[in-house]
Amino acid sequence: MGGRRMINVRLTLAVCAAAAAAVAAAPAAEDLAARAARLHQASIVADTHEDVPEDMGEKWGAYANWHDIGEPGATKEVDIPRLKQGGVTAPFFAVYVPASYAESGGSARYALDLSDLIDGMVARHPGELVGAASVADIRRAKAEGRIAVLKGIEGGHAIEDSMGALRGFYRLGIRYMTLTHTNTNHWADSSGNFFAPDYAAATYQVHHGLTDFGRAVVREMNRLGMMVDVSHASVETIDDVLESSRAPVFASHSSCRALSNIPRNLTDDQIKRIAAQGGVVMVNVSSIFLDQAAVDRFQAELDRIRPQYLATKEQYKDDPARRQQELDKIMKGLPKRAPSDWTKVVDHIEHVIRIAGPDAVGLGTDFDGIPDPPAGLEDVSKLPRITEELLRRGHSDDEVRKVLGENFLRFFSKVEEVSRSLASEPPSQAQIPPAP
Ligand SMILES: [Zn+2]
Repeated sequence: MGGRRMINVRLTLAVCAAAAAAVAAAPAAEDLAARAARLHQASIVADTHEDVPEDMGEKWGAYANWHDIGEPGATKEVDIPRLKQGGVTAPFFAVYVPASYAESGGSARYALDLSDLIDGMVARHPGELVGAASVADIRRAKAEGRIAVLKGIEGGHAIEDSMGALRGFYRLGIRYMTLTHTNTNHWADSSGNFFAPDYAAATYQVHHGLTDFGRAVVREMNRLGMMVDVSHASVETIDDVLESSRAPVFASHSSCRALSNIPRNLTDDQIKRIAAQGGVVMVNVSSIFLDQAAVDRFQAELDRIRPQYLATKEQYKDDPARRQQELDKIMKGLPKRAPSDWTKVVDHIEHVIRIAGPDAVGLGTDFDGIPDPPAGLEDVSKLPRITEELLRRGHSDDEVRKVLGENFLRFFSKVEEVSRSLASEPPSQAQIPPAP
């Protein structure tokens, strides 16, 4: 074979190889999308925090005006058509009780109303939705092609310091309780409201974690089979929960502080300890939970309005109602927070996997409760993008299934198992002792 002919053959081979690579590249991308869609559709997708009732209330006012969740746009980010598009199997609708009820009274009644309203939403759509309260219920709903709607209480003040109320809520199908919202209650400290310009963590450190009654609440939740949620809890409360809980615990809607330093996110150490006990961290998709740049921008805004905020607080100190009105006005004047890129959600998922393993992470979007979902993940219909991005970054099908729902189901079934093992334990009679 002559030299020139050899070169020609080589050239031809090289051209063929390049062409083959080009042909291969196009189907590879298609394959990934198709593979992701198939995997997502076949998987159980759990989302442990959706503020559907809160958004309904904000958007439509009085309950009588609430729109049907079957209508597109009934809430900002969640409705039946979008839940279906998003392939969601098991959303938890939050029975969120605002902190104001802790002061005015009526927390338990408010929680009862919301629980009833969620049941009503489900009852109107028997073909598409089904009320669920166990791992078995979720798997059955998936097999039937229905969406399993679950309920979680957000804000431990909802039980009004009553074990009887806690048990009542369990009987109504409520399967987790976030121990605090942004308020410290009578038995557990909160991480507080860091959105306030005068935020100071110490203000919320009243008990330095859980009181004896708070520990009894956690233990009674273990006995009942109600998941203990540490989202919103203070550092000391999380320490006490991890020490006193007999079942693994979870964070229903919190992300990683290493990537976005806000008190609502978890430190690496907390994530590792939650995981070591068999718990899971369900990643929140709010831009400020995901992105340090969003935190820094927000902090700069808070610094800007702080003098005015403090002056207003002082000016109306004798008129609490007016003071609140004026402070709300200042807060509403803040510019809308810019959305971050949606792939940061996957960065947080990968961070948990890196420090605590692939069994420790899931999704707790907080849709309908956040003002700043990321660009590209504007509502629950976009969740399949997370599956595709995880596959694109090289995660196995098995790992993706874990993130989407299997980690949460494993954790939930452990909570159920611990409850069964405590069947012979009598109900707690703990009370908060009257003030001396
Ligand atoms: Zn929350």
